[in-house]
Amino acid sequence: MKSEDMTKVQAARPVSSRLAKLQATVVSLTASDIAPRAEEVDRACTWPAHSMAALSKAGLLGLHVPQALGGHEQGLLALSVLTETIAQACPSSALCFGMHCVGSAVIAAKATDLQRTDYLRKIAQGEHITTLALSEAGSGAHFYLPATLMTPCDSHLEVNGQKQFVTNGGHADSYVLSVLDGSSEHHSGDFSCLIVDADTPGLTWSGDWQGFGMRGNSSRAMALDNARVPTTNLLGEPGDQVWYVFEVVAPYFLMAMAGTYLGIAEAALNEAREHLKARRHAHSGTALADHDILQSRLATMWISVERTRSFIREAARKGDLGDPAALPFILASKVDAAETAVAITNEAMTLCGGSAYRENSRLTQMLRDARASHVMSPTTDMLKLWTGRALLDMPLL
Ligand SMILES: Cc1cc2nc3c(=O)[nH]c(=O)nc-3n(C[C@H](O)[C@H](O)[C@H](O)COP(=O)(O)OP(=O)(O)OC[C@H]3O[C@@H](n4cnc5c(N)ncnc54)[C@H](O)[C@@H]3O)c2cc1C
Repeated sequence: MKSEDMTKVQAARPVSSRLAKLQATVVSLTASDIAPRAEEVDRACTWPAHSMAALSKAGLLGLHVPQALGGHEQGLLALSVLTETIAQACPSSALCFGMHCVGSAVIAAKATDLQRTDYLRKIAQGEHITTLALSEAGSGAHFYLPATLMTPCDSHLEVNGQKQFVTNGGHADSYVLSVLDGSSEHHSGDFSCLIVDADTPGLTWSGDWQGFGMRGNSSRAMALDNARVPTTNLLGEPGDQVWYVFEVVAPYFLMAMAGTYLGIAEAALNEAREHLKARRHAHSGTALADHDILQSRLATMWISVERTRSFIREAARKGDLGDPAALPFILASKVDAAETAVAITNEAMTLCGGSAYRENSRLTQMLRDARASHVMSPTTDMLKLWTGRALLDMPLL
């Protein structure tokens, strides 16, 4: 098989016809709107408003919104395929879109009529961006242990606390927060999910995001000081938190991240492949591609990327079908994508040599972006632990 055929095989991967159309739209807008400004997003730490606008114009913000409300009603497979496509050009844009999708899936899971009108319809119309704000400085990677408190007060809830690393911070129209109910006694792992509008009095932002990688995602810190939120913005019923974490937050978040980091690995593999073909030595007239050892190393990278993609697709399909065996696959998808992304960007850096090692080459950006995969919680170690526990029929937490 010639190397050109490799690309054709990748493009022919089977997905449903509805998803194939969405994927084709994203391939096209990634080329026209997202890729040309990816370098600027990384260099200047620019939140990718242009990417979100293009995705919104194409009707993609409602990826997980029910069709009855104007959305696409897609699941985990669509999320992983679309984030993978965007991340090949601009990982920060994939992360921003992915976190919007996770937030909207959380809202859609048990939305009331009011929430359907106020949030989901607007999301489907491309008029509303949301995102997930779980992490806090106090509990760090243990995102399921918030200390932010909500206290009933007249017809409102008063919210006090801080969130850290909020992707789309300062740019989204609403934030899906995890909060403790201040009016009742709580136990470890208790929390409720609450939609907090961007213009809520008492909500403030601090600091600019200057990350090592994922420099466009605007991961900022939010403070809530007696923030007044309508009681109608509570999601689900008290006691739903375990259901939300394992049925919605974890699967959607993990598949968005798995897609994003797979996209980075794929882009790094392509950079290496193109470099091996293009770079020729003057003294011998041969291309790097003519060296057996480099052919073999490229093959090892390709096997790793393809294996990761197959694993993620299988996990997403199992999740979308409600297969009881899906859990360890979904948990392990982010692990596998993270390990592949870091290994492949690292290896591509070696194969592309000094020209890739120069400051701010495309590969240095990919390598920096890939490193966020192990840090974003659930971290790689936590997910391996939970995968093992799932395989042993033990409680994850
Ligand atoms: C680019 C980026 C985007 C993010 N976006 C969001 C977002 O949109 N929403 C959101 O809520 N959060 C987000 N986060 C936050 C993220 O999910 C983590 O909560 C955050 O990185 C924790 O940082 P920390 O320094 O407080 O970690 P710490 O808790 O101090 O942990 C430091 C390290 O110790 C290890 N560690 C900690 N606890 C354990 C454990 N129990 N078992 C094994 N190892 C452990 C891990 O390796 C971890 O990376 C984002 C983070 C980054 C970097």
